[in-house]
Amino acid sequence: MSAGRGSKPPRPVELAVPSDPAATVRGGRPWPAWPPLGPRTADSVAAAVEAQRWTLSWPGGDSLERRFAQHFADYNRVPYAVPVDHGSSALVVALEALDVGPGDEVIVPTMTWVATATAVLRVGALPVLVDSEPGSGCVSVDAVEAALSERTRAVIAVHLGSSVAGLGSLLRLTRRNRIALIEDSAQATGAIWRGRHVGTLGELGTFSFQAGKVLACGEGGAVVTSDPALYRRAQQLRADARCYADPHARHPDDMELVEVGEVTGSNHCMSELHAALLLDQLPRLDEQHAHRELRASELEDGLATLGDLSAVPNSADVDRRSIYTYGIRFEPGAFGDAAVEVVGQALSTELERPVYPPDVPLHRSLLFRPATKRRFAAAWTETGRKRAIGRAYPGAEHFRSTTLLLHHSALLGTSDDVADILEALTKVRARCRATRAR
Ligand SMILES: *Cc1c(COP(=O)(O)O)cnc(C)c1O
Repeated sequence: MSAGRGSKPPRPVELAVPSDPAATVRGGRPWPAWPPLGPRTADSVAAAVEAQRWTLSWPGGDSLERRFAQHFADYNRVPYAVPVDHGSSALVVALEALDVGPGDEVIVPTMTWVATATAVLRVGALPVLVDSEPGSGCVSVDAVEAALSERTRAVIAVHLGSSVAGLGSLLRLTRRNRIALIEDSAQATGAIWRGRHVGTLGELGTFSFQAGKVLACGEGGAVVTSDPALYRRAQQLRADARCYADPHARHPDDMELVEVGEVTGSNHCMSELHAALLLDQLPRLDEQHAHRELRASELEDGLATLGDLSAVPNSADVDRRSIYTYGIRFEPGAFGDAAVEVVGQALSTELERPVYPPDVPLHRSLLFRPATKRRFAAAWTETGRKRAIGRAYPGAEHFRSTTLLLHHSALLGTSDDVADILEALTKVRARCRATRAR
């Protein structure tokens, strides 16, 4: 199956939408709110405002940014973390730390948020999009291997939804070929693979703290690494060629950042208000992971009784999932002829919250159109374009057309919420099948 841009969408099936909210499964009851306010969240931000130290680049003692960097590194059991303004910037900083640039290729899964690929273009290199595993949506390691060339400098693996990419084979492959592995862990803060936090296994790991993510501050991100030289470069790349001052050699009136100039940077610094939010949120993250896991296991018990529905599979090497989106897989025909979008709509109506298919894979996504930006033209030549997206993506297309997602906040409530999800699936499935039978 080759599904290029403009491939025909499946024929939608008409479904009666109940107009009376009392007739929906959810019946108007609220879902857990996200992002979450803890008992001290508002006070922490107010204290940061009142401290009148709103930025890292300012005199006046240790910043909250630096404190968060330490806490986040400790949380991930990795020596170094560099906070940044967005997960997208974290990817750019990671690529620049590796000195990836024009003429280089970086392998990226087609099944990801667009920022994974545009980060590569932003450093002047070519993103080479490869296929995904049909079950998990994570990058296919065989597809990565098939796409390697002399120009390949790095692979960006994305831990997608609730899954961890095939790190064992990816680490072997990248080491054997002497290329770097960047783990885009934007959706996976706190996932544990063979006893280690994801993001800490490749040369660099990147994270997003955008409001919807499992650790949220509105807009923010981080880069982690165990390599002191990459750490030193990453600091400068996010703060206009400056690094943290030695805390012991610094007078409180001195700036926290000192000019180093070993590599030209940009300003990707995280503000103090965002750092205050993250310092408030981080201590609750593991408890939230456990809460979601409890609800997920109830949901999985229920799905097992429904026959043709199942959870997105997880590798036995994963000791703890980070559930960002919870994926429900269905067998072809489980919902009659209804397209995944239509099923998602019907479930959203019943549950009064979004249930949706994965993002359209990048090789045919409206959001990924490098030709619309002149700065990307040097990489996006006719040859570049062919190299980037000129292959088949059957795994990604299968994943995309047979998976429904729920945002993780759906699993932060009670067992009754899980029962509603199962009831909505049963109801919509019966309705879709009846529609086909007519
Ligand atoms: C959210 C996300 C990003 C981008 O993070 P921002 O903080 O929104 O810039 C990158 N990659 C993946 C996989 C994401 O989910």
